Amino acid sequence: MSNAYFHIEEPKNEHYLSYAPGTPERDELKKTLTELKKDELEIPAVINGKEIKTDRTIDLHPPHDLNHKLGTVHLCGEKEVKQAIEGALEARQKWAETPWQDRAAIFLRAADIITGPWRSKMNAVTMLAQSKTPHQSEIESVGELADFLRFNAWYLTKIYKDQPYSPDGMWNRVEYRPLEGFVFAVSPFNFTAIAGNLPAAPALCGNVVIWKPSIESVYSSWFVLQALKAAGLPDGVIQFLPGEGADVGDPALESEHLSGLHFTGSEGTFNHLWKTIGKNIDKYRTYPRIVGETGGKDFIFAHNSADIDRLVPATVRGAFEYQGQKCSAASRMYVPKSIWDDFSKKLKAEVKNVKMGDVEDFSNFMGAVISRKAFDKISEYIDYVKESDDAEIIAGGGYDDSKGYFIEPTVVVTTDPKFRTMKEEIFGPVLTIYVYEDEKFEETLDLCDGTSKYALTGAIWARDRYTINHMANRLKNSAGNFYINDKPTGAVVNQQPFGGARKSGTNDKAGSMVNLYRWISMRSIKETYAGPKEFEYPYMGEEK
Ligand code: NAD
Repeated sequence: MSNAYFHIEEPKNEHYLSYAPGTPERDELKKTLTELKKDELEIPAVINGKEIKTDRTIDLHPPHDLNHKLGTVHLCGEKEVKQAIEGALEARQKWAETPWQDRAAIFLRAADIITGPWRSKMNAVTMLAQSKTPHQSEIESVGELADFLRFNAWYLTKIYKDQPYSPDGMWNRVEYRPLEGFVFAVSPFNFTAIAGNLPAAPALCGNVVIWKPSIESVYSSWFVLQALKAAGLPDGVIQFLPGEGADVGDPALESEHLSGLHFTGSEGTFNHLWKTIGKNIDKYRTYPRIVGETGGKDFIFAHNSADIDRLVPATVRGAFEYQGQKCSAASRMYVPKSIWDDFSKKLKAEVKNVKMGDVEDFSNFMGAVISRKAFDKISEYIDYVKESDDAEIIAGGGYDDSKGYFIEPTVVVTTDPKFRTMKEEIFGPVLTIYVYEDEKFEETLDLCDGTSKYALTGAIWARDRYTINHMANRLKNSAGNFYINDKPTGAVVNQQPFGGARKSGTNDKAGSMVNLYRWISMRSIKETYAGPKEFEYPYMGEEK
């Protein structure tokens, strides 16, 4: 056992490559896409390091190219979950007792693999699995994922260094133990980085993890697992169990050894998981930590002093990048009447310029939405608007699933600030705008705060400083990530810790120390050098 105090240099955020014409990374990415598409991949479960094939599989296709088959995935159920929990608990002691620097080295090395030799592979699999453009893929499956891995290792050393005060005659210490049991990590489809961080953050802290990736993005999640393996992650520490939600979720939440849930996904799923944990509470040996980041109805609120020429591109990017499938994507907007003509003219013109199509054609700004289910849900919202008297579509509104799940960037204008598409999470490229009377600025701020149950991200646009300050105060609880004169998307690890409140989640800020605190259980140790030899206190002495 080493006896030195090691430290990790403060990381820097990963620099993004441009993939502009003529760059070497562009050529390499194109080559990797072609190579990957030559082979079909068979994705198994991985339990104790062994690949497990079940008798149930489904086929995987890029959302933008449904005729192409990426491969198949084997689906798990109760039998595999039980095996995985047993194996994880066996691996637990050795992993928990592994010195922190050895654990950290694995995740730091994985970050270097992802940003180095595997960079184009991580991008290509994310483009194919989730229909991301090269830029959208680069910023998260490479940039954000590496940032999560590097900064979390560094944050952990800061936590471990934090020790209590010791007066004379004693030594007080705190140990940061992993949780007793296993952590259940359940990831959403939309970010390869989140899929990686959900199991990796608790594992870094010494926990063993059952990871249920989303079937919709399992193709890219598989490569995250492979990168961790290539970096030296021991067998059994992260068990990989693809499957339909409840098939994996129910048996995992039944286990008496559940010690934590690390979830990102929709509010409905999180509510269900929380209720199930509540129902099972008497079974557990320990109170499970529950961390969940969920939905959003993210806003842009413009004041009449807003800089329209900057607001327009921020709106297009904020609402339509990655097809509006970022939890932070702008989906409702408030614009004052005095700037509406100018703003709407420019916005319509820009939306017309948005190119959508196969993400392997690098000239596209948007790809397809993730699945048949998402396509149906989003197109139903668009049809609802088309039939409504309280709203009209001023840009987009078309959809087509003949080649892939394509939905046009769609701008709706409503006269009802509580219109359905101002309130409900659609999770697609649909932005609804309410045009307010300038003199109703204050009431409209209240509307913005009170219209949705979510509070994930929001952006305000104004030039006047007093107004900015006023808006920021009035909307204090409306968003966990709040932007001033910027789009509400694009949070960066260690710069804007990410998470919302209200029905957007527990706000345990992914990519910050706060998140890591949920995966450790402190043990306070007091050591006394010379304790008293008698039990009586001085006040008990006889009076003279
Ligand atoms: P989802 O809720 O449909 O699925 C998320 C995960 O939960 C998937 O792996 C799914 O298979 C699993 N699941 C479903 N039912 C389950 C069950 N009974 N037991 C165990 N697991 C179960 O969400 P999605 O469509 O993958 O992702 C989109 C949602 O995620 C949106 O609501 C979006 O806002 C949210 N999101 C939030 C954040 C954030 O940081 N707040 C980030 C990304 C995505």
